[in-house]
Amino acid sequence: DFRVRYAPSPTGYLHIGNARTALFNWLFARHYNGTFVIRIEDTDSARNIENGEQSQLENLKWLGLDWDEAPDKPGQYGPYRQSERNEQGIYQEFIDELLAKGLAYKSYKTSEQLAEERAAQQAAKQAPHYIYEYEGLTNEEREAKYADFEAQGLKPVVRFRVPEEKVYAWDDIVKGHIEIGAKEVGGDWVIQKADGMPTYNFAVVVDDHLMKISHVLRGDDHVSNTPKQMMIYEALGWDVPKFGHMALIINGATGKKLSKRDNDVLQFVEQYRELGYQPEAMDNFIGLLGWSPKGEDEIFSLEEFKEMFDEHRLSKANAKFDQKKLEWINNQWIRKDKDRIMPQLFDQIIAAGLISKEEAEKRADWLKEVIEVAGVDGISYTKQIVDLVREPFFQLGEVTDEMVDYLTSEDGRKVYDAWEKAYTALPDDADAGTYMATIRGIQNDLEIKGRNLWNPIRIATTHQIQGPNLPEMLVLLDKPAVLKTMADVKA
Ligand code: GLU
Repeated sequence: DFRVRYAPSPTGYLHIGNARTALFNWLFARHYNGTFVIRIEDTDSARNIENGEQSQLENLKWLGLDWDEAPDKPGQYGPYRQSERNEQGIYQEFIDELLAKGLAYKSYKTSEQLAEERAAQQAAKQAPHYIYEYEGLTNEEREAKYADFEAQGLKPVVRFRVPEEKVYAWDDIVKGHIEIGAKEVGGDWVIQKADGMPTYNFAVVVDDHLMKISHVLRGDDHVSNTPKQMMIYEALGWDVPKFGHMALIINGATGKKLSKRDNDVLQFVEQYRELGYQPEAMDNFIGLLGWSPKGEDEIFSLEEFKEMFDEHRLSKANAKFDQKKLEWINNQWIRKDKDRIMPQLFDQIIAAGLISKEEAEKRADWLKEVIEVAGVDGISYTKQIVDLVREPFFQLGEVTDEMVDYLTSEDGRKVYDAWEKAYTALPDDADAGTYMATIRGIQNDLEIKGRNLWNPIRIATTHQIQGPNLPEMLVLLDKPAVLKTMADVKA
């Protein structure tokens, strides 16, 4: 029975990298009919942000990822928040066990002392390394020291005694065989902080064990934590789960590790959601970040990913974050099912203040056509529709000098006069074919074509030099308004 988990820290909103971890754990669970657990790793209370947990879960739901066990859906291995587990003494029990076995100890060094030691190591060009303060002491002597420190009012942290001679090795699902010497972890590390909170590397082991997690799929940045975690499994006599560390996500533009400071890429799911990216497109894009299917296709639904999923196709190579590709994928999803997307497009136009909700409902057929004619097929995300429909359907732009030149040229004047006459004579509900035929008629009469024909008409009716198909636009514009626009332009 495969059990996997996604273990967010509520220290921020849902980042693309986290969303990828969540997605692949979900795919793994669903492909193998396993269980997908969500555990909130909130022990670093100073870094937790308000709404962090709620927003992360909300965005996972939006992506269509559901879970079997979580704080809001407790299974038999709860609670599912580390802070609550800590309150129940779940970690303390194992801290005490390690202390009793002499595999961990209390350390009372002050931060000044630690800083001094580090400075000395730096001066000696040594790698930073914790110096064990009870070397050569018996248990009783060490206990006596504890009592001394306590008497001075000092608060201890608990450190794990690292077996420096050992090498930790595992067959990583993604990266293959990995070996890391215990020496590389920088010496005895803290498993419980002075405030009684367990540290991540300790709590994660206790939780993964007690929650019977069989596979740990997570980001590449956790590779260096894995030996620390394996030490704890070993010390407590527990089986180690299978680990898989997914490829680093790099910024496609810079080739460097994607960093929260990269201002050229939006990195939070929320930001894409606000712009009107589709959850299906986000899943599609994220599902190809460090994973590839057989064949050339690139558009997949969550359901298809689930069917195809194969952990052996997770890539060792860095995953390139290419925003252009995301835009392309989103465009594909927008075009796939226009009816489904329409309400979102309406909402964007209403939110931008171009039309009221009531008016949009009343003129829904018209607005749909405006959206089509304005070029919905070319947008990368729904918010882009706002700028496409704004002019001339809701507002008119300024008439620029270039436009004036077209209108006042010799050809321009002739075209304008001919168009004014013809347009005024047409019925209010003329269709696109009629408008086209009318313009062609002017072309034949005046023997003016191309830009010199189209631009004066387009400018006079829409205040635009470029734009969507003009006859189709004319059908959607209000004739009295167009006549007024034309009169204004002429004046
Ligand atoms: N809370 C950790 C994180 O946000 C989870 C790491 C893990 O999956 O072990 O990175």
